[in-house]
Amino acid sequence: MQTIQMSDIYGQYLTMKDEIDAAIQEVIRSTKFIKSGKVLDFEEKLSEYLDTNVISCGNGTDALQLAFMALNLNPGDEIITTPFTFISTVEVLVLLELKPVFVDVCPNKFNIDSSKIEAAITDKTKAILPVHLFGQCADLETIQSLCKKHNLFLVEDACQALGTGFLFNDGTTKKAGTVGDIGCNSFFPSKNLGAFGDGGAVYTNDNELAKTIRSIANHGRKEMYVYERVGLNSRLDSMQAAILEVKLKSIEKHIKARQEAAAFYDFHLKGIEGLQIPTRAEYSTHTFHQYTIKVEKRDELQAFLQKREIPSMVYYPRAIHLQEGYQFLEYKKGDFPHSEKLTETVLSLPMHTELTEEQQRYIVDSIKEFFKNEL
Ligand SMILES: *Cc1c(COP(=O)(O)O)cnc(C)c1O
Repeated sequence: MQTIQMSDIYGQYLTMKDEIDAAIQEVIRSTKFIKSGKVLDFEEKLSEYLDTNVISCGNGTDALQLAFMALNLNPGDEIITTPFTFISTVEVLVLLELKPVFVDVCPNKFNIDSSKIEAAITDKTKAILPVHLFGQCADLETIQSLCKKHNLFLVEDACQALGTGFLFNDGTTKKAGTVGDIGCNSFFPSKNLGAFGDGGAVYTNDNELAKTIRSIANHGRKEMYVYERVGLNSRLDSMQAAILEVKLKSIEKHIKARQEAAAFYDFHLKGIEGLQIPTRAEYSTHTFHQYTIKVEKRDELQAFLQKREIPSMVYYPRAIHLQEGYQFLEYKKGDFPHSEKLTETVLSLPMHTELTEEQQRYIVDSIKEFFKNEL
């Protein structure tokens, strides 16, 4: 059996090697490296796939920063999000002198608990920033109606959820990141659509906002050597865009492969006492950026799997309100009990498009053996 990897980026590359290699050669031959050639092609293709405006940028963190720079907020304005996410979600708010206000997550779906949001809204609240963690959408329809009611922006951190569908009550669907005013995505190598380096994108249905975001990502430029605002330099380069363009063609196939791997885990792991398989929301598809179980004896299970050369990861081992660098927000232990408990119990299992049934069987058999020994 081949060594099991948490995320098999090279193995996936081999299935598309000829096409990716040719696309890279084409970029070199064209010398269209920046804001031309493949970058424009890829933006157009992703825009068709998502049915919205797409502005590519340097990475997912920049995408979040660009989004919040475009909204013309003031220092001290409050943004509601969760403490159980990757640091970028909160970091950019602080850098822009905005105030992150945390709301706890649902203990089973891992996303912001929409029933607790309204209590956190003040007259300084300007936006809600749900994170579609592990590839499943937050409760966007409820959040959207709260935004309408309180006149707030809705910005989606969709970095882990490219291709996920949100299902509205009326039966219509939209892709993650295209429901709110702005959506943010990352092409970090292990994400649903991963580059061979850094990359990101901002989405918006609003054409004016799209123009503003494009300007901010390009030094605040209006036209050649004319700058209408202070911006920054954040761009996807053509090499990454060429790779992403090839991979985008297979995104639905890749999502299906991860969903099938998840179904295998579900089938074999459900019903084990002391282990909870991922909970599916009725309003979202799940693209399984991660397959994350909950286990009380998490650290013991992880060590047991490690001994059998089965990798696993803890996303995330510490909630942001308990991070040293974020103590100035003046939260304390106990403020967000579900998030804190999850940091002690979640475990993400190997999940990628190249997992074989033999590997998955070995993983689930090992997990079952751990729990048998526990009895
Ligand atoms: C990956 C990720 C980001 C940041 O993306 P980078 O491309 O690494 O900057 C932001 N938010 C979430 C939830 C992520 O998973």
